[in-house]
Amino acid sequence: MSAGIPAYDKNNIFARILRGEIPCKKVYEDEHALAFYDINPQAKIHVLVIPKGAYVSMADFAAKAGDQEIAGFVRAVGKTAEKLGVVESGYRLLANHGPNSHQEVPHLHVHIFGGQKLGRMIAVERQA
Ligand code: 5GP
Repeated sequence: MSAGIPAYDKNNIFARILRGEIPCKKVYEDEHALAFYDINPQAKIHVLVIPKGAYVSMADFAAKAGDQEIAGFVRAVGKTAEKLGVVESGYRLLANHGPNSHQEVPHLHVHIFGGQKLGRMIAVERQA
């Protein structure tokens, strides 16, 4: 385990999707990544792109993945956006890491939001 990064849980829901144990509505797949529709969409288009390797978050991926995996994953995000037809209209990428971000699934995923006007940036919780 690296500092601040929990150990990878191989039974997290996205690991199970990668193993084919749970179905998903696939958008794009190659040797490095899988992209599929989010089960609880927060925008007209809401797709998740995940690397095929076992990484908890972007911090874990940046620290441990090989250059080819990183390049392949970034390209897969770009190809998924192309397949979704949102390049011209625009889209937003989001990747949560850790408790402050409310990351739910401990396997790196990049959200792609699009298909509508998305408003400005993020909603921040009020501090007590
Ligand atoms: P996070 O909060 O970790 O950044 O986002 C996790 C996302 O995964 C959420 O948007 C949630 O709706 C989505 N999700 C959780 N379980 C499943 C599932 O079984 N299938 C799909 N397609 N999406 C899921």
